[in-house]
Amino acid sequence: LRRALAAKEFELHFQPKVEVATNQTKSVEALIRWRHPQRGLMRPDAFIPLAEETGIIVEIGEWVLREACRHARQWQLAGMMPMRIAVNLSARQFRQKQLMDIVQSALRDADLAPQFLELELTESAVMYDPEESARILEQLSRLGVQISIDDFGTGYSSLSHLKRFPLDKLKIDRSFIRDVTRSAEDASIVRAVISLAHSLKLKVIAEGVESGDQLEFLRELGCDQYQGYYFSPPLSAQEL
Ligand code: C2E
Ligand code: MG
Ligand code: MG
Repeated sequence: LRRALAAKEFELHFQPKVEVATNQTKSVEALIRWRHPQRGLMRPDAFIPLAEETGIIVEIGEWVLREACRHARQWQLAGMMPMRIAVNLSARQFRQKQLMDIVQSALRDADLAPQFLELELTESAVMYDPEESARILEQLSRLGVQISIDDFGTGYSSLSHLKRFPLDKLKIDRSFIRDVTRSAEDASIVRAVISLAHSLKLKVIAEGVESGDQLEFLRELGCDQYQGYYFSPPLSAQEL
């Protein structure tokens, strides 16, 4: 991984997030890929867990942040409709002391306004030490970046903390979306998460939408945005 970073073997792919009501794309999620010289294009599940274990995720994560901001700014300069870019932060990165400096310098060096950056954090990352998390989230929020909770529903969130954190969005994990049109339980969970999010004044986005039926169902439940193969898989910068 260390060598891959130095040899510039990582790249970012981008998956659009779509507004349910208007079918417009106003943001994309950056997803890392490793273009391995022998094994070809590798998905993050194959190397991110190890990167977290060894700690090198902090360096990889900084590269992702910088690269994501750079792309977002490039698209603006190329005359594309301004799009927000969402970056996944690992728990370790979220807790690193220099996080604020790194985020600020990534924005500054790319000349990107903070409202065009969104950070995705998992429930376990923010619930691990809620007091400390609240402090970090406040700082990030004051900076003007957006914050979402990724894979919502798979970890366990304390609702009292959830309501105190300065969050913008909940992302419903794709495991609940997969059978949402067939399983009464999954439908209930999705309905409940949407209503929870809305009552906390948060936007809600569904991950892993693969069919028109799923999308229609989510539309009826009042889901704000979706992401998934139905609209588009993650794309290279060129394809995007
Ligand atoms: P995630 O943030 O929840 O990203 C969503 C994953 O779902 C992506 O997998 C995406 O390709 C996949 N996906 C999107 N739409 C669909 C769909 O309709 N059906 C199905 N079956 N899958 C869909 P990917 O790119 O393999 O990323 C996996 C995970 O790796 C991400 O989950 C995220 O937790 C982590 N990850 C990706 N990039 C980074 C990064 O730069 N830093 C860190 N720390 N983690 C990353
Ligand atoms: Mg994510
Ligand atoms: Mg997710």
